[in-house]
Amino acid sequence: MFSLDSFATDKLDALEARNQRRRLVDTERAGAMALSVAGGPSLISFTDNDYLGLSTHPAVIRAAQDAAARYGAGSGASRLVTGNHPLYGALEAKIARLKGTEGAVVFGSGYLANVGIIPTLVGKDDLIVADELVHTCIHAGMQLSRARVEFFRHNDVDHAADIIAKNRSKHERVLIVVDGVYSMDGDIAPLKGLGTLAEHYDAWLMTDDAHALGTIGGGRGSAHATGAEHLVPLQMGTLSKAAGSYGGYLAASKPVVDLMKTRARSLIYTTGLPPSAVAAALKALELIEADPDMVARPTLLARRFAAAMGLAMPDTPIVPLVIGTEVDALAASARLADEGFKVIAFRPPTVPEGTSRLRFSFSASHRDADVDRLIETCHKLGLNQQP
Ligand SMILES: *Cc1c(COP(=O)(O)O)cnc(C)c1O
Repeated sequence: MFSLDSFATDKLDALEARNQRRRLVDTERAGAMALSVAGGPSLISFTDNDYLGLSTHPAVIRAAQDAAARYGAGSGASRLVTGNHPLYGALEAKIARLKGTEGAVVFGSGYLANVGIIPTLVGKDDLIVADELVHTCIHAGMQLSRARVEFFRHNDVDHAADIIAKNRSKHERVLIVVDGVYSMDGDIAPLKGLGTLAEHYDAWLMTDDAHALGTIGGGRGSAHATGAEHLVPLQMGTLSKAAGSYGGYLAASKPVVDLMKTRARSLIYTTGLPPSAVAAALKALELIEADPDMVARPTLLARRFAAAMGLAMPDTPIVPLVIGTEVDALAASARLADEGFKVIAFRPPTVPEGTSRLRFSFSASHRDADVDRLIETCHKLGLNQQP
């Protein structure tokens, strides 16, 4: 017992010394992008992934309430046992329609989707070629698969081509994995180039569209935004960001979807989602399909902010402001909080050393006046002066 606690304490102390210790803070979200941290004053959040404000949309909340009343608070078992309540089928059909795929399968979360999908498709004799900046849960899925993993430089199609050309003949199956939108920089993967490459070498291209569903491509995600609909056979994503609920998915062909339902361990050996979460996601996707102006708004606001700050023009609702050290990034975040804004500082290991940053994310539920005041405040704090 003593060695266990001293291990944990020493580890935390070392992280604290590098300003990398993390803490959970009670946060009460009160409707459209307003929140209160640890019981403090109300702040406007420019840090959520709730890009459309749908987590607090009245129709989405009502759908969740109705589902809980009808089907219960929990699902009671794995989907393969008795947890596959009828809302799942409706949600999967909706995702497939939105994505233009034959089918879709819903997992417990985006993280669970990635750790289930990747080992179901590739194993120890296979090769995974991944962008160096893919999300942490893709790393977890790749490790579980025991496949050989090679990384290519961020968004560098030529480098990916080099790796595949040199190694294709040594492996039966090759999986190329990228994020559709990179959450820390807000840039979009070059899917036409990667998709053409994948076709040429009979490799399978997979996107993680966690930040792309509901935000780009008319809400349909990165493949649609880049004109690569037919080049991306594996479109994974989450229902926890723009869709405002919880859960993960893979949109793919019918055989691939059926294989997941039969073999993906993170689908089989875990309890089905609460009916309320599935109903909320379904309602949110209906709203996304019906309202292209809502989908376009977060990126328009992001562009307005970036222009006023002298930053590169974003194609997504995400605007990074790289500060440098952990200490400076935390200080900038604290100063913004004093002015009424919640903007989280992202630090290593989430971002590379020396690139600690403020990550601004914009939502359809921000008012124009909120963004104007944010711009004013950033100017006042000299944040637009940062290199
Ligand atoms: C948030 C995120 C996930 C995880 O999704 P959850 O549903 O929150 O588990 C996966 N990939 C990327 C790129 C993400 O940003």
